[in-house]
Amino acid sequence: MNRNVVLESELTCPSCGYKKTEVMPTDACQWFYECQQCHSILKPQIGDCCVFCSYGTVPCPPIQSEGSCCS
Ligand SMILES: [Zn+2]
Repeated sequence: MNRNVVLESELTCPSCGYKKTEVMPTDACQWFYECQQCHSILKPQIGDCCVFCSYGTVPCPPIQSEGSCCS
């Protein structure tokens, strides 16, 4: 694992705008995330591998280290 990989990402809910910093898993992509304010279930946008790539401030760890992700 590249030590420059950032593991914290601030997710922004597209429904209510609520922001929450989450620690990303390094070994798996997270496809679903429940907003803690409005409880909508966030899913990745088309072309993105996980919720962090779609709604976070930082792409997920596999993207950062390898430029691609698990399918
Ligand atoms: Zn929300």
